[in-house]
Amino acid sequence: MMVHATTPYCSAIHRAASLIACMEVIRVEKPWVGARFSIGIWVGDSLSPLHREPACKELNSIRGNKNKEHRFILNRCPLCSTSLGPAEGGDKDERWPGYEISRSAVTRNEETVIFICPNVECLFSDERRPIPALVIDDDIFDEKPSLIVATIDKFAQVAFNENIRELLESMLMETVHSASESNHPG
Ligand SMILES: [Zn+2]
Repeated sequence: MMVHATTPYCSAIHRAASLIACMEVIRVEKPWVGARFSIGIWVGDSLSPLHREPACKELNSIRGNKNKEHRFILNRCPLCSTSLGPAEGGDKDERWPGYEISRSAVTRNEETVIFICPNVECLFSDERRPIPALVIDDDIFDEKPSLIVATIDKFAQVAFNENIRELLESMLMETVHSASESNHPG
């Protein structure tokens, strides 16, 4: 499913991320087989990183500088609302809680920026089960999240970006498959 967004991380996006987080909690508790539920926050190139390697470099370069703006968008856990990133009035050298460099959940052999909730009571406080939200284009193309919130400029690239075409095709196939299953239960 894909919806259109107008702002980098508005309350509507947080609510959508919360819905996906709750679905993932249910999936883990059941446990259901299959891929995790996740949300892709897919906004303009100036607002979120396109690629993993520069994203990791960007995070390393801005850690320790609590006043510097960043492009990792997610500023609180969608499940428990614990704040991510530099705390208000926090120490200048404080590491940014919630943003970590780790292997991609999908590609495994490539480092990316993932979100780990600083609240140890939260389901998503474990590196092995990070917050199911993606903001880097590479990660969105590889994981193909359950829900994508996108800005319109991303759609404009469909004519010349093969990754975007594949993403849209996979989501269309998923929709057709789901509709087919619901029409023929069992
Ligand atoms: Zn949390």
